[in-house]
Amino acid sequence: MKIGWIGTGIMGFSMCKHLMDAGNKAIVFNRTQSKAQGLVELGAELAKTPAQVASSCDVLFTMVGYPSDVEQVYFGKDGIFEGLEEAKEKGEDAHTARILVDMTTTKPSLAVRIYEKAKELGCESLDAPVSGGDSGARNATLSIMVGGDASTLEKVKPLFDAMGKSVLLEGPAGAGQHTKMANQIQIAGTMVGMCEALAYSKAAGLDLKKMVATIAKGAAGCHSLDNLAPRVIRGDYEPGFIVEHFIKDMKIALEESRRMGLELKGLGLVESMYEELRDKGYGKAGTQALVKVIGDEF
Ligand code: NAP
Repeated sequence: MKIGWIGTGIMGFSMCKHLMDAGNKAIVFNRTQSKAQGLVELGAELAKTPAQVASSCDVLFTMVGYPSDVEQVYFGKDGIFEGLEEAKEKGEDAHTARILVDMTTTKPSLAVRIYEKAKELGCESLDAPVSGGDSGARNATLSIMVGGDASTLEKVKPLFDAMGKSVLLEGPAGAGQHTKMANQIQIAGTMVGMCEALAYSKAAGLDLKKMVATIAKGAAGCHSLDNLAPRVIRGDYEPGFIVEHFIKDMKIALEESRRMGLELKGLGLVESMYEELRDKGYGKAGTQALVKVIGDEF
């Protein structure tokens, strides 16, 4: 199997590497070429454009940043669909991607557009955003939320299994992205809870490590507490998951909620706290930096 991979950042690099470690050949592309270099050194071929990736692999994965990046790599100049259309016109589509998998966290409506365009070109597509953070990508323990056809998932499942520990079909195209939005709404709550618990405990003079170890064993236990509270305690605000990407996700979730006639006040509040954090200069920091808008002590 030859896989194509576009977007070799914090998440994509490790995820693509797991597929290579599982014995698949790879062709990769990233906007900043140097970030794909490590994979090239491990044997991946380097493409010049997303179109070239699309015309040189069996299954193509994308893991870029924002919905605008997804638009560009699929629908833009030298993009995936341009590559597929050109190969089809030339009758050279024997080695073009048959299955497209977008793992970026993006808009459900964009996932539906990709699904429809892929179908028009005789291809299949899945939206498959993930949860589990940078550590989940490194350790191949991601939770993968899939939207699309069951028959397509069946073909891609062995590849997903090399990247994650949970792979579930949530429904038709777009349902993976909706599930990821539910995930981000939940995380917004656990992030503000974790940061406020740390600020409160510091003000009360508690031993922060002991407090975290204690409450993580009870009903407060969660990923934010296990993985991000220790980073806050040691003053480590490196990403992980950058603040600007989390704001992007919360904005999509708020937009989708409004469209469905829902008002999510808690999510709106946390989103405004993260905007304040970004405006303080922490846009590229890890999401655990939220503690900076809660307490001056951190
Ligand atoms: P990242 O480190 O910024 O990686 C994204 C990569 O995509 C970057 O290397 C970027 O290139 C590349 N890219 C963007 N637009 C491109 C384009 N038009 N053509 C080619 N390459 C392009 O971000 P990440 O943390 O890996 O996150 C990726 C996605 O996963 C985001 O949607 C994020 O919300 C989601 N996610 C992240 C986490 C996490 O914990 N980090 C967890 C779950 C989901 P440059 O190097 O030039 O910027």
